Amino acid sequence: MVSAAVWDIGYLFSAALFIFGIKQLSSPKTAPRGNRLGALGMLLAVLVTLSRMYSEGIIGWELIVGGLVLGSVIGAFMATRVEMTGMPELVALFNGFGGGASALVALSEVLDRLQESDIPDPGIELYVIWVAIGLSGLVGWMTLTGSLVAMMKLKGGFVIPFSGKWVRFPTWGPSWLNSVKVILLLGSLGLILLSIDDPSNSDYIWGIVALSSLLGVLFVMPIGGADMPVVVSLLNSLSGIAAAFTGFVIGNNVLIIAGSMVGAAGLILTFIMCKAMNRTLPDVLFKAFGGTADKAQLSRTKVGSDPVEVAMICDGISKCVVIPGYGMAVSQAQHSVKEFADLMEARGAEVSYGIHPVAGRMPGHMNVLMAEANVPYEKLIEMDDINNEMAEMDVALVIGANDTVNPVARSGEGPLGGMPIINADAARIVVIIKRSLSVGYAGVDNDLFYEDSTMMLFGDGKKMMNELNAAIKEL
Ligand code: NDP
Repeated sequence: MVSAAVWDIGYLFSAALFIFGIKQLSSPKTAPRGNRLGALGMLLAVLVTLSRMYSEGIIGWELIVGGLVLGSVIGAFMATRVEMTGMPELVALFNGFGGGASALVALSEVLDRLQESDIPDPGIELYVIWVAIGLSGLVGWMTLTGSLVAMMKLKGGFVIPFSGKWVRFPTWGPSWLNSVKVILLLGSLGLILLSIDDPSNSDYIWGIVALSSLLGVLFVMPIGGADMPVVVSLLNSLSGIAAAFTGFVIGNNVLIIAGSMVGAAGLILTFIMCKAMNRTLPDVLFKAFGGTADKAQLSRTKVGSDPVEVAMICDGISKCVVIPGYGMAVSQAQHSVKEFADLMEARGAEVSYGIHPVAGRMPGHMNVLMAEANVPYEKLIEMDDINNEMAEMDVALVIGANDTVNPVARSGEGPLGGMPIINADAARIVVIIKRSLSVGYAGVDNDLFYEDSTMMLFGDGKKMMNELNAAIKEL
């Protein structure tokens, strides 16, 4: 039998790799290396755990190889098949899987112990293990069901099996639902206490599973519009917290370390997102309401411009800002946007990029796409900084962004109420590339489209950018 110290040293190395990996994620230049270090740390943690379980006779090699092959094939299949636009949903789903896996491990541990009557005597050990099992279940199941709802909300709905009918996921949350959420939360905590009082009774554990699963659904269901990014990062944090609790349950140090790191990082991101959205976390979780506007309610019209006209406007300008949004990701126009910037710079204009913190469908979405197109990182200017310069801009080119430039947010009303925006309307001329006048994610009509200084270029983002670039080359 291998000494326990060997496994601990393996875990120590893996934890060190996580920490160095995260440190390197703090700069875009070192981020890819940081990612690889983190992945290496995870591989090491998996190998050490499996070797330990094999060496201690807990599982046979058939299960190890079977699990590795199955997990790798499913993971590779999902990762290679997913479209760039489907990444946010995949991230939400993986958050959920993380929470679900932690909850399942804690559940199997408690069921195992009940079957083998291996229940600690009343005292501190029972408290630590049973509280950890209860909290891991509470947070883990809540994360799983909440993430599944978040995934469907990001996707826009779900398909009913057999009928193939597409159903928009409801954003429904009357104010009395908050009381139900509090009752469910208190009920789950009460069940954890009862399970310590009577640890051999598995009913309490199943009760925690049921209440926390329902809680996850009810927490995410009312949230829509501008609050979704906060929820996605909170769920990410919860998946880490669930893993840390499970680490206590099964006595696995690397799980405690990695879980705490994900939990803390996710929580920091959640507060950054809240700040960016001008929200507090309790407001997001308890005062949430989603957008309801739909295309039928749009009554105003606007005549579209053409790329040649826009190219002529761009001729001779000195300052231009590109404001990318979700539509740029959908149309994969980032390389054409970079080409536009190169063309304008060759003509003597100064080009920068205004990046809203929740543009797209996941934190950092626009940064990733612009980096893929080799846009220098210094040119990606955060919302507050670009807003200071917006009045000096000759042209603001908005590509596929909608909610993040919608002046309605300033009114403080509706799903976008109070969300800080990029003040595209302060630029001399605004050019907006999108396919129609339709609403963005929050479902709110956008006054910016109808301003006199706004030119709409209707069409697919990439196609329009290419036509605009061709027209600029002709100048
Ligand atoms: P929006 O979702 O507000 O709008 C995107 C626009 O892109 C649509 O109005 C659509 O208009 C247009 N579009 C779609 N496909 C194309 C295409 N092929 N070519 C050109 N345009 C296209 O985007 P924003 O980035 O401005 O805002 C992000 C929204 O998503 C915010 O409300 C945010 O809260 C929310 N959100 C953000 C998350 C994050 O973490 N970043 C997570 C979850 C939600 P049309 O159909 O007319 O083309």
